[in-house]
Amino acid sequence: MKESWTTLKLVAWTQGYFARAGVASPRLDAELLLAHALSCDRVRLYLDFDKPLGAAELAAFRELVRRRVEGEPVAYLTGAKEFHGRRFRVDARVLVPRPETELLLEAALPALPEGGAALDLCTGSGALALTLALERPGARVTATDLSAEALEVAAANAAALGAKVELLRGDLLGALPSPPPRFDVIVANPPYVPSGEWEGLPREVRREPRLALDGGPDGLRLLSRIAAEAPRFLRPGGLLVAEMHESHLEALPRLCREAGFASAEARRDLAGLPRLVVARLGAAAD
Ligand code: GLN
Repeated sequence: MKESWTTLKLVAWTQGYFARAGVASPRLDAELLLAHALSCDRVRLYLDFDKPLGAAELAAFRELVRRRVEGEPVAYLTGAKEFHGRRFRVDARVLVPRPETELLLEAALPALPEGGAALDLCTGSGALALTLALERPGARVTATDLSAEALEVAAANAAALGAKVELLRGDLLGALPSPPPRFDVIVANPPYVPSGEWEGLPREVRREPRLALDGGPDGLRLLSRIAAEAPRFLRPGGLLVAEMHESHLEALPRLCREAGFASAEARRDLAGLPRLVVARLGAAAD
């Protein structure tokens, strides 16, 4: 007897296979990869649950399943990741946008008026910069990255999403022209993982660019520079919002205050881990 593989059966089988292989979200990954192989969305899998797959579709899916089990991030296999409700193209040139990074947006948006100016450092795929630009169409958004390859991805995303963002290549704030322009808000998700943690990161995370993750011995190599240099690029009352490692809970707010910020506080992510610093410059004395 030769049974055909329907979408429902395939999802169920793949979920079990992924679970045994230690894939963190087996059902979701099975659905995302099958939908990708069939060029449809996940809902369609269930509407057409009884539909048998063709040989070519099955072969394409098998290849995706094999690569996933070998540790490729699912977003690299599908070529896309959702961030704040929008689809960003991603590949091995950039870090995959994380849900916790949306917390930076929530902290930054209220500080960005229509007609204001925002800067995103280490933009990668452009998730933060493009979202800011799309949520505040009247604002001027600039984004920098050290990686020319990452900026190619950000530019492709900007074109696909219709976002207007100025992309500059360079080392943090050194990418900006002088005299320094002033921003209402600076956001940054720089590499901040302490180097010693690299080997212990999940296999799929180690497939992402080390340049986007490794923050030096204490993880603060870039964050400390950002804290020190940001005040010169902010308007009075301006805000710095940066993602950080949980071990930076005390050190990073302190570095921000030492750099001249009037206030700096750490905030936790939904998992309860310290994940970002929000630092505000004092208003101009007049
Ligand atoms: N949050 C990422 C992780 O879990 C780290 C991102 C970064 O270094 N900017 O690995």
